[in-house]
Amino acid sequence: MNSQPQFNFDNSYARSLEGFFEFCPAERAVAPTLLQFNHALAKELRLDPMALDSEAGLAIFSGNATPEGAQTLAQAYAGHQFGGFSPQLGDGRALLLGEVIDTQQQRRDIQLKGSGRTPFSRGGDGKAAVGPVLREYLIGEAMHALGVPTTRALAAVATGTDVYRERPLPGAILTRVSASHIRVGTFQYGAARGDVDKVRKLADYAIERHYPETADAKNPYLAFFAAVTDAQAALIARWMNIGFIHGVMNTDNMTISGETIDYGPCAFMDNYSPETVFSSIDQHGRYAYAKQPEILIWNLARLAETLIPLVDPEKERAIELLTETIECIQPLYESYWLTGMRSKIGLSTENENDQQLINNLLKLMNEGSVDFTLVFRRLSQTLRGDSDAVRNLFENPNAFDTWAQGWHKRLEQEGVVAENTAQAMDRVNPIYIPRNHKVEEALAAASDEKDMTPFSKLLTVLCHPFDEVAGNETFAEPAPATNIPYQTFCGT
Ligand code: AMP
Ligand code: MG
Repeated sequence: MNSQPQFNFDNSYARSLEGFFEFCPAERAVAPTLLQFNHALAKELRLDPMALDSEAGLAIFSGNATPEGAQTLAQAYAGHQFGGFSPQLGDGRALLLGEVIDTQQQRRDIQLKGSGRTPFSRGGDGKAAVGPVLREYLIGEAMHALGVPTTRALAAVATGTDVYRERPLPGAILTRVSASHIRVGTFQYGAARGDVDKVRKLADYAIERHYPETADAKNPYLAFFAAVTDAQAALIARWMNIGFIHGVMNTDNMTISGETIDYGPCAFMDNYSPETVFSSIDQHGRYAYAKQPEILIWNLARLAETLIPLVDPEKERAIELLTETIECIQPLYESYWLTGMRSKIGLSTENENDQQLINNLLKLMNEGSVDFTLVFRRLSQTLRGDSDAVRNLFENPNAFDTWAQGWHKRLEQEGVVAENTAQAMDRVNPIYIPRNHKVEEALAAASDEKDMTPFSKLLTVLCHPFDEVAGNETFAEPAPATNIPYQTFCGT
């Protein structure tokens, strides 16, 4: 007999931010079943995995039971979507259950996504389908294992009823965990209502929750803005380092904490091409791979606008101060990016020509349209005496050889034993990423055949992205060549 799941909720958002949410219950799920449960994350959240991996847990994750201490609420936010401003978006299909303090003393939100209509649903049904829910589960866990700050999945349940998209699809609910769900769009929500006190209340809350050190700065709100820019610049650099394309970098999908959120139409790039776009709705390539650093700055400028009245009573002065910080984002991002790229090619010291060396490799990769992940992973093989593995990926292996000569010269300056460099490279260049065809295969089996076996296998592989395992070769390989470009769809 399992004990009743205890959460020990401490709901600071509900307590502190009246006006930024609406209390709202979840809709009932008729015949829920548990698809996946994350034992390791449950432990991290100081929850009892055995008590939750049960009927009682299923009732909670399907929205049918409200655990003690939960205060289900839908958060309000606004946002720029593809450049156009919507003053009211909000959780149209998500509910915050509450907050818990994890084993690292970090406050984490626990949210249901797909649990039915809320006051912010507009024309939507408040639901989610099995495919997109499992996609978010899988990619979030893969990103976490890759060392990228991200929201994570605690559970996925099938609701037992269909949701209607282009065709009926099995419905599902994701239980999502995050450092918080405060977005750039949450600040825009307060600012769009012309309510400076409201924005200040939100900023004070975000400072205390995410960047407490900035409270003691000479200008706390400016320091807060700088802290958010730093976290987000580091995050986007990590995305770029692993070939991740978010696909819908609207301001309501950019967190204040610096975690990746909302895995809708995201995908990993296969062949290196900076213009890559996978999302069917991104027709002008606003959120293409190479555009992400620009959008980072654009989105943060929207956050800065909401902070003007807080930063200085004199508007011109406030704008000047915030602009100075905005101008630092590009170099900040570039330095994070370069640090990441240096480690990908085995460099631990700095040389002024490193950026050129890296760009030359990227140029060859682009010209030869070679697999981003495989090139970096196989580079370490050249240090173990096998350069064919990587050079054969290139259309023009001789051009690669020329580049490699320069690279080897640069590595000699480091004075590190080759095998040690190779091992360090293997710790930052994944062998297993969520390959698009593998993700689709796993989601189709789960959604169409109710077969979770491919999903479970893929999840297991992606939880250890740097450790090569014999027998898992197909998970490292790119998709078989096809003429149909890969396309993703928003998870609505
Ligand atoms: P997303 O594209 O998931 O970031 O969502 C953008 C906005 O649309 C958010 O305000 C969501 O809550 C809302 N939304 C997306 N799908 C639905 C749905 N099925 N029902 C209600 N609201 C939705
Ligand atoms: Mg969103």
